[in-house]
Amino acid sequence: MPQTDHLKTDCSKCAALCCLVLAFDKGKDFAFDKNPCEPCRNLSGHSCSIHDRLAEEGFPGCVAYDCLGAGNRVVQEVFAGQSWQTEPRLTRVMMEAFSGMREVHKRIDLLRAAGTLPLEPQDEQARRDFLARLEEHRWSGPELNDFEAGLALEIDIFFHGLGKSLPASFRDAL
Ligand code: SF4
Repeated sequence: MPQTDHLKTDCSKCAALCCLVLAFDKGKDFAFDKNPCEPCRNLSGHSCSIHDRLAEEGFPGCVAYDCLGAGNRVVQEVFAGQSWQTEPRLTRVMMEAFSGMREVHKRIDLLRAAGTLPLEPQDEQARRDFLARLEEHRWSGPELNDFEAGLALEIDIFFHGLGKSLPASFRDAL
């Protein structure tokens, strides 16, 4: 595991990207509808104005959500701590980078978890190689935009190729 665990979420180093980018529907998890890429009406700066009572206010979905460190990594590594709120011209590229980094971190999570599977030696080596490529790379915005159609696809094909040795929980996550 790297010295800094990229999957550790730190909202204090983010710019409330999940509260901007993600959509949700009114129901048991959220008290109102929110469109994708629309700042949540409960957002105050980079903080949630109802953070200490989210469940009581009808937002258990926000309590349960974890970006796996994608938000803080995008803001700090890709945008050097800048925010779409003070630099509105960055809004679109920050949203795109957050979406790409979520996909990177989702696969880091899966590749780490696959370390517990009884893989053939060549598959275990491939798993380690993919993981190293994702964890050690310093991503740029354009690279994150290309991730899903490139390396993410290679990783998904690797997982599908594991066939029966892949538990259903992994298949569902892909
Ligand atoms: S309710 Fe709070 S945590 Fe949930 S999306 Fe809105 S601002 Fe973010």
